Amino acid sequence: MTVHATALRRFEIQSGLGEVRHRIEAACAAAGRSVDDVTLVVVTKTFPASDVELLHELGCLDVAENRDQEARQKVESLAAIRSSLRWHMIGQLQRNKARSVAGWADVVESVDRLDLADALSASAVSRQRTIDVLIQVSLDPDPLEGRGGIRRADVGPVAEAVSALPGLRLSGVMGVAPHPGDPNDAFALLREAASAVQLVRVEARTISAGMSGDLEQAIAHGATQVRIGGAILGKRAHVG
Ligand SMILES: *Cc1c(COP(=O)(O)O)cnc(C)c1O
Repeated sequence: MTVHATALRRFEIQSGLGEVRHRIEAACAAAGRSVDDVTLVVVTKTFPASDVELLHELGCLDVAENRDQEARQKVESLAAIRSSLRWHMIGQLQRNKARSVAGWADVVESVDRLDLADALSASAVSRQRTIDVLIQVSLDPDPLEGRGGIRRADVGPVAEAVSALPGLRLSGVMGVAPHPGDPNDAFALLREAASAVQLVRVEARTISAGMSGDLEQAIAHGATQVRIGGAILGKRAHVG
């Protein structure tokens, strides 16, 4: 990019960040919570590595991707700042991609099957890494649907099993509020699932909930981490 284009993009991202940080502050104030309890993760899927570089300069060190190949390329092209970034995997993950993801992800938020956790564990061990994992919980009102995450009834047993796997650190839960639907209902369910996980591992305090459209409701229901793409980086070229 030209110097001018970079300056313009930096300004755009800085403005989006400012707005989102205000929203987080207001939501924390309304919930009587400290802003220090909520981590902002910027979802950089579909956006170029140069945006991640700008985010890093602006102090955003947690970034999230949803596709292995795209993420791997960005991580590789940003090797110089690798150690100060925390890369999150938030997309649905096939078991056969576990080895690759274990090479770049610091946090895998989308663990929704035990065989996936097993594969991540084996890869983390062979790479001599420890990966933080979140259990993705289905927030569908109908527990039989089980779209995008494990059924809530299975959270306790899956947490037990995951907590015993070497190379993984069970850190909490992740959820996406279904649309249509009231995000308040969804995030209340996620909070219950988080309690079930904390019965297994008390340090597993992360509740990853809230996107550009519903971060306020997520924070009201105890989210410790929000995943924001569009409100900071702008419209994505396609649904990712
Ligand atoms: C894309 C994505 C986000 C970010 O969504 P925005 O509406 O752009 O903030 C958050 N979480 C997951 C799981 C996503 O796939």
